[in-house]
Amino acid sequence: MKNYYDILEISPEATRDEIKSAFRAKARKYHPDVNHTLEAEILFKQVNLAAKTLLDDTMRSQYDFAYGFNQKKKETKETCNSFEKKEEKKTYEDFTSSFYAYFRNKKKEKPQKNPKKINGQDIITHINITSSEAISGTSRKVNILTSEKCPKCFGSKFINGSKCTFCDGKGEKTQYKKINVKIPPNVRDGIKIRVKNEGEEGKFGGKNGDLYLVVHVEKNAAFKSLDGLAFIEVPISPYEAVLGAQIKIPIPDNGTKILKIPPKTRTNTIFKLMESGFLNAQTNTRDPLLVKVVIDILPQLGDKEVELYREISDIYKGDLREDIRKYG
Ligand SMILES: [Zn+2]
Repeated sequence: MKNYYDILEISPEATRDEIKSAFRAKARKYHPDVNHTLEAEILFKQVNLAAKTLLDDTMRSQYDFAYGFNQKKKETKETCNSFEKKEEKKTYEDFTSSFYAYFRNKKKEKPQKNPKKINGQDIITHINITSSEAISGTSRKVNILTSEKCPKCFGSKFINGSKCTFCDGKGEKTQYKKINVKIPPNVRDGIKIRVKNEGEEGKFGGKNGDLYLVVHVEKNAAFKSLDGLAFIEVPISPYEAVLGAQIKIPIPDNGTKILKIPPKTRTNTIFKLMESGFLNAQTNTRDPLLVKVVIDILPQLGDKEVELYREISDIYKGDLREDIRKYG
């Protein structure tokens, strides 16, 4: 997970002015009025949360402490404004007092004064589902990387005065967590599903973030949707169209079925293959599959075939373009 400094793309020693200008630039970039993507919506929330935390001196100190950012450099950094200097001094005192208060609380295990709450960040993850799952609904186990308080040092980073080896002094452990998510029937591509509380863990009693799943419906090149039914276009050869044929048709995510084409089938004829389309969630059966046949020639025709077509051409007396001729 990105930390607040990464989100704003500033250094952990950034001054208030630097934070403010970074925030303004990011907020402009991801503002919902400007950027309509889900990514932007979530980044906009993160940028706001980052700035809100880092512009509040106490919250920033708590945050830096919780995430192990070095405070010392920041304190010595000069600002040109004397008022700001005063503010930074106060910040430092706030920081140190809460710092020690935090340690005192840790020792006693019973906090007298709670540090400010830090809300956990939202997690975004992407999943792919097939077009038939999009119609029928499905579920997915998602693996998300979360960080939780170190179970050995309880987030204090130290054990008996030396660095906690279990979390390498980070105070938290990152781990994969499996979450089962239900995807309802009839979802569209790009839909987002929110799973409350499954984002990053909040700190000091802050709320957990949420998990957002962005659902991508796999673009199955073969199948399109026509009036809610699966639809596929299938090429047939002129001789199959004339003589009739039995051709193999793929069924969405489920093998093939045979479609009988009667003799003298014209191009663009649509056939309905029953119980061969998308799975219907209500009835738990498959809807019909619409198959449009389009007459095409094989790209590699031999001399023999061409000769046979010439024979047909010589004896064919009809006029396919009779209807069009009258417009000329
Ligand atoms: Zn630890």
